[in-house]
Amino acid sequence: MIKQRTIKKAVKARGIGIHGGNIVNMTLIPAEIDHGVVFKRMDAGGKLVRAHNAFVNEVVLSTCLENQGVKVSTIEHLMSALSALGIDNVLVELDSFEVPIMDGSSAPFIFLVQSAGILEQNAHKLFFVIHETVRVENQDLWAQVSPYEGFKVTLEIDFDNKKVQDSGQKLSIDFAKQSYLKEISRARTFGYMKDVETMQRQNLALGASMDNAIALSDDDVLNEDGMRYQNEFVKHKILDIVGDLYLLGSNLVGHYEGYKAGHLLNDQLLSEILSKPNTWSIETFETKDSPLQFYSEDWQNSL
Ligand SMILES: [Zn+2]
Repeated sequence: MIKQRTIKKAVKARGIGIHGGNIVNMTLIPAEIDHGVVFKRMDAGGKLVRAHNAFVNEVVLSTCLENQGVKVSTIEHLMSALSALGIDNVLVELDSFEVPIMDGSSAPFIFLVQSAGILEQNAHKLFFVIHETVRVENQDLWAQVSPYEGFKVTLEIDFDNKKVQDSGQKLSIDFAKQSYLKEISRARTFGYMKDVETMQRQNLALGASMDNAIALSDDDVLNEDGMRYQNEFVKHKILDIVGDLYLLGSNLVGHYEGYKAGHLLNDQLLSEILSKPNTWSIETFETKDSPLQFYSEDWQNSL
């Protein structure tokens, strides 16, 4: 059978929070079968917040969860790394309201999980399998999932910026054929320098810097080291989508397609899917008919 996964031992990371600007300590702790991904706010009485669409609270600058007044913000890059490595069960302890931003990509979280090691557990892994197309639209923006033998993300972004336009704004990744670790994990978040300055005057994005984001001027990239991938912008948006989709609670078997889709539209799409239980099912697989064969080459290489 395809088994659930956790990590072998607890691992710690420490870094700045992009919104609060303070240092955050995070510990990933192994968790039992069927535990799921759960955040624990050590600075708020140990309150637990489950990583699921039901607890999404805010989606403006990042994806933020809330349970009974306790928030966990900026979860999407960690969620993306956990999804990419197929980690079903982990407790994420935080001593602040947000996950540290690290370098603005998911590569540090991939490294963290790999340093802990991945443990297969003696229970069937649950997959979220799409049977019918579900689509949401908001003016000219749209996002949809449709049936697919594996996991594929196709995204087109449309930024009015020459550097982004020149880099290529459309990309399709089939995770059975292309490695998330190699092709996606290093892509950093990005934004206009002038927007960051405006936000910081309003006490927002206090931790944002060129150490954790690509800073854009009207026609150029301001970071001295330049870009990590030629099409890093659209790759980062795919990284975000992989993280947002993991709020379904299980790895998706389906094809996500989107046009100018971000956290808000992804949240609407997940709510729409979950409200239509006849369009999907939770399934388990044996090794021979395994989605591992068409899902993620990274999983096979990560044990
Ligand atoms: Zn992001």
